[in-house]
Amino acid sequence: MFARHFIDSPDFARNGRELRGEVAVAEMPRLRDMLADPEGKIGYFVRGFQDKSGKPMLEVTMDGSCQLICQRCLSGFAYPVHLVSRLLLAQEGELDESSVEDDELDSILADKHLDVFALLEEEILLSLPFAPKHPAGACQLAAKGLDQSGNPAFAVLAGLKDK
Ligand SMILES: [Zn+2]
Repeated sequence: MFARHFIDSPDFARNGRELRGEVAVAEMPRLRDMLADPEGKIGYFVRGFQDKSGKPMLEVTMDGSCQLICQRCLSGFAYPVHLVSRLLLAQEGELDESSVEDDELDSILADKHLDVFALLEEEILLSLPFAPKHPAGACQLAAKGLDQSGNPAFAVLAGLKDK
């Protein structure tokens, strides 16, 4: 349903290329394993550019949401995904150099056959909380079937737990 994209990342950066689209959450297996529900999709925008010193960079912007599992009540809740990452395309060997001046900047390998969906998935996984939870007090609402996800399956599960 969504075509996978592979980009020549150094070329992508050098020529200021852009790629925009949507990825289904269900297409990201490692992320999907952490979710209450594989429904949903995430919009993305990948832009190649060169920084002031001419280093190849990618900027990844994502917008969407996914259904995380609350670690307190085990029901699902909508977690917004809004992130912007700037990634330095490093050559093999440069990746573990401790001389990276900017700690905020992540590096990835300058892959000529970069799997864009795998990159997006990695960035989302890095951004997720360790132990996702409903806001304080919201778990009880979820248990009564008033879960924000509106998914009746959770209401049923929550009902079973009460018996
Ligand atoms: Zn909860």
